[in-house]
Formats: sequence, C-alpha cells, structure tokens
Amino acid sequence: MPKIYFIDVTNRDGVQTAKLGLSKLEKTMINLYLNEMGIFQSEFGFPTTKHETHYLLANLELAEMGVLQPIRLGGWIRAIAGDVETAFKQVPNLRHLNLSISTSDQMIGGKFQGKKTRDDILNDMVEAVDAARTHGAESIGVNAEDASRADLDFLIKFGLAGKEHGAVRLRYCDTLGYDNPFTIYETIKALAENTGMAIELHCHGDLGMANANSIAGAKGAVDGGQDAYINTTVNGIGERAGNADLVAVSLAVTKSKGFAEKYQLGNPIDLSKSWKIAKFASYAFGVPIPINQTGVGINAFAHSSGIHADGVLKDPENYELFSYGELGRGEPEFVETGREIIAGQYSGISGFRHVMGKMEVTFADKEEAREILELVRYANVESQKPLVEDELLFIAKYPQIAKKLLTLKPLE
Ligand SMILES: [Zn+2]
Repeated sequence: MPKIYFIDVTNRDGVQTAKLGLSKLEKTMINLYLNEMGIFQSEFGFPTTKHETHYLLANLELAEMGVLQPIRLGGWIRAIAGDVETAFKQVPNLRHLNLSISTSDQMIGGKFQGKKTRDDILNDMVEAVDAARTHGAESIGVNAEDASRADLDFLIKFGLAGKEHGAVRLRYCDTLGYDNPFTIYETIKALAENTGMAIELHCHGDLGMANANSIAGAKGAVDGGQDAYINTTVNGIGERAGNADLVAVSLAVTKSKGFAEKYQLGNPIDLSKSWKIAKFASYAFGVPIPINQTGVGINAFAHSSGIHADGVLKDPENYELFSYGELGRGEPEFVETGREIIAGQYSGISGFRHVMGKMEVTFADKEEAREILELVRYANVESQKPLVEDELLFIAKYPQIAKKLLTLKPLE
C-alpha cells in the first residue's frame, strides 16, 4: 500500500510570503524542529539566490554531521538548465531538488507572452532534469505550477517526460487554491494512474480549502497506486492566503474519521513537537497564532459554556477529539515579569554570561565566551529580535556552523 509523506516548504513558500521573512538562523531552527518531528523533507531554500548560499551549505554540513538527519534537505529552483548550473555552482553538494515551471495555458500565455509553447515547457523541464542528474542529484521532483488550471493530458505528458529523464515525483501545484476536495481527488488519482509517479500535493488557501484539498489529494494518489507527498508550512504561512498547515494536516491524516485506517504515513510524525514549532514560527515570522488555530490556537482546548465545561470535566473525550498533551502543550510557560537581562547586538560579556548561565551553559574561558557572544550579536543584527533559548544553545553548541550561517557577503 502506498504511503503518505510530508514535505514542509516553510523555508521556501513561507519565506517568500509578502511582508514576512526569517533569518538564516531561524530557517535553520525550523529545519531542526522539522527533523525532530519526523518530517520527511524540508524544502530548505533557494540554491540560486546568493544570500542563501552560506545558509544552505551550513545546513548540508549539519546533515553530514548527523544533526539534520534523517530529514532530507531539498532545494527549489526554476526548471531551467541555467538555474540548475547556478544552483550546483553555488551549492555543489545539493542532493535533492524540486524544479518548477508553469503548466497552465493561462500562465504559459500570460507569463511568457507567446514566447513559449507547451512543447517548450516540456523541453525546458527535461533539460533541467538532465542537468540536475548530471550534477549528481539523487531525487528530483518536477513541479507543475498552476496545475489545477492546466490540461490533464498535458500534466500527464509533463509527468511522464520528467519520469523518463529521472524525476521521481510530480508536484501538483494548486498555485491559486482553485481546487476543491472533489476535483483534486479525481485529478490526482488520474495523474497517479497515468504517470505511475509519486505525487506531491501543493495546496493554497485562497478558497479556504488547503488542508482539506491536501488530504483529498493524498487519498487520490494512494487510491491511484502511488505515494503521496503533502506540502505544508508551519502555521500555514505562505503566499497570499497561505499553504496547507503542518499541524492541521498531520492531525487530519491521523485523526479524521476513518482516514488513518486506510491511508498511512510513510514515517511516523511526532505530534508532540507541534506546540514548539508553531510557537517558534509565530515568533520568528512575527505573526500571532489565531486563537482558533487547529491544535495550537490558545482556544483549541478552552471551554467556557456550562454544557461543554461540565462535559469535558466528566470525560475530555466528550468535547475534545484529541488531547493537548499529544501536541506537546499543557506545560506552564515561564514569563519574566521582573528584571530581564537579554542578549542582543550590543550586549557585553557580563550580561551574556548571566543569560547563558541561566540555561546552565558555561564557557571554558573568557575567550570562548567572547567568541559565542560575538556570534549572538551578529544573529541579533540579522533577526532584530531577542534570540530564543534554542537559538542561543545552538550557537553555543555549533559556533563554526553559526559563523557560516551568519556570513553574508553582498560585495563579493
Ligand atoms: Zn506555493
């Protein structure tokens, strides 16, 4: 029986969202949390973008060190041979790639203004796949942008052409959030049956159906005999109205009526990391979690009315589908209400030692403390907000990696 996997795209779709962004250290923390959670792959960034280079290399180094294992780190670029060349020039040890190109007649006509035909799209894509294989890519997904508005026969052709050249997955992008669970199920089932490829579901929330479409699409892939790879972002942060939400879709796959009995995960997801990753992404993006957010909203387990409160006190299962403890919430959180010493971009050694001492981090000597402090200062310059404990601990534990993450060289 084919299985369902998760590819989180927070560090790609999430960070390309208007008005939002993450520092390179924050992106790294997201990769670490996704790995802890058991997510199959993180689409960790843009290998053709210069300011990503040191971050991408540093994260691949963390993978080699076994820190970012077993998660796969996949880059995302346009399906153009030239972009593949640039990507491997800047990030030579890239091993997993998704190659994206428009597939609807609307976009082919509207974006390329008559300069490209459907055949040109296929040619560009297979040239890019060939180039990526030449450079040693181990897994390649081909992304059909605006697939939900594209012709089904052309999508099948697109998938088969990619497969023939060595692509292993076809990403079905509902770029504009146009699908509904009924249409996406039928389309994905047909794609799975006719291409014999694993299908990625990349769904957006323009009509409020990104999560529902993701599991309907996954069902279509599995019913069509192929593995499904659901694309998510933490807290659903993504272009416009956002993407499918990591926690909500994980819950939908594992807890919704009858689903998990037939449609199973390829590798288990540790839901107990949900609270931590959602809180961190909210802080890092500077976007509050809505109070009614699935699983991690502050009201997701709150009861006030008489009938509900009485019922849940008698037996939580009366009004709760799953327990808050499963998502890693329920522990009281410590909020400082008195004096605070914070490590920032202008911090000195005394305050810094105090902050680290509270987390029981000690340094061999003054030299080492100064070196870590200097990195913390730079990390603050980039994020412009106090670092969380996990970030400080990461820098103290992996100073050489942190140094690479924080290296930006616009003058080069
Ligand atoms: Zn997207």
